[in-house]
Amino acid sequence: RGDRSSCGSTDQGAGDLWLMSDLRELYQEVILDHNRSPRNFGPLEGADLRADGHNPLCGDRLSVALKVEDGLVTDVRFEGSGCAISKASASLMTERIKGQTIDEARALFDRFHRLLTDQTAPTDDAALGKLAVFAGVRDYPARVKCAVLAWHTLRAAVDDNHELVSTE
Ligand code: ZN
Repeated sequence: RGDRSSCGSTDQGAGDLWLMSDLRELYQEVILDHNRSPRNFGPLEGADLRADGHNPLCGDRLSVALKVEDGLVTDVRFEGSGCAISKASASLMTERIKGQTIDEARALFDRFHRLLTDQTAPTDDAALGKLAVFAGVRDYPARVKCAVLAWHTLRAAVDDNHELVSTE
C-alpha cells in the first residue's frame, strides 16, 4: 500500500487518479472501504420517496429511496452501479442522513455541493464530518459529478421530482 503513492498511479483505474498524494491516503481508505462494502445498499421496501440519477460523463447510475416519518428520514437506501467515488459517496450519504430531518438533509446537500464546487469553501467544515473526505475531488471537475450524483438524486427524491436526474 505504501508504495502506491510513490510509484505513480498509471496502473490504477481512472476513478482513482486523483488519489495520489500521501496526504489523501486516509481519504482514500474511507472511499475505498465504502466502495468495497457500501452501506445501506439494496432495495427499500415501502419507500415513501425515490429518485433515479445518471452521470453520463462517467456512466454512474443510482437510485435513492427513503422512508420519511414526520419530516424525519427513518430509512434510506441506494441501488445502482458506478465508479468507486459515486458509490462511496452514496454510501456515506445514506449513513449520514439517516435519522436527520428533510431540512437537515437539504442543508447537507448545500454544504457538500459547496465543498466540491467552491474552491474557497473550507475543507474542514465540521458539519460535514466524514463527508469532508471528498474535498480532494474538487480539483478534478470530472470526478465532482461522480461525487455529487447521489446528493442530486437525494434532492430530487425529497423534492418528489420523478424526472431522471442528470449531472449534465
Ligand atoms: Zn463516476
